[in-house]
Amino acid sequence: GEFDRVNIEPLINTAVLWAVRTKQVRLDIHMDIEADLWTCGNEGQLHQVIVNLVENAIDATRGTQEPRLKISARRNQNEILIRLSDNGPGIEQHNIGRIFEPFFTTKRVGEGTGLGLWISYGIVREHGAELTVVNAPEGGAIFSFALPAA
Ligand code: ADP
Ligand code: MG
Repeated sequence: GEFDRVNIEPLINTAVLWAVRTKQVRLDIHMDIEADLWTCGNEGQLHQVIVNLVENAIDATRGTQEPRLKISARRNQNEILIRLSDNGPGIEQHNIGRIFEPFFTTKRVGEGTGLGLWISYGIVREHGAELTVVNAPEGGAIFSFALPAA
């Protein structure tokens, strides 16, 4: 797709609103996005990545007492570090190497296709970065990637 200058703050805000509206849930979202962060990329595809990650966080925190999602974006030298952390159960150790594979899902039939992370990984890769995940020591999953600053 086409690459243009993309403003990170409105990109994330719009994608979060979209994901929350689609999923019709209440969760506490904490945003820590620096202003005036720009990357060079495909806005529609980057939108899809954030929507996928937020939707997954919403699904993962469904059984949590007080569902929380923290999203941060900050400049680090020539990169923009984007990070989403939730307080769900995290990813089971035996699945952690498989979640970016196509059709890998732990959701019930009809509730997940297993394509979201595979597609997102590919999009982030097209932007010269790598989408990675770790489990937080206090529980929950942390997805992050670093886009080139423009
Ligand atoms: P889908 O959402 O359709 O299952 P994805 O590719 O988006 O497909 O995610 C694949 C799997 O990765 C999910 O089924 C789930 O097991 C795991 N996963 C993704 N995000 C999270 C998260 N935030 N917390 C825990 N597990 C997650
Ligand atoms: Mg998904």
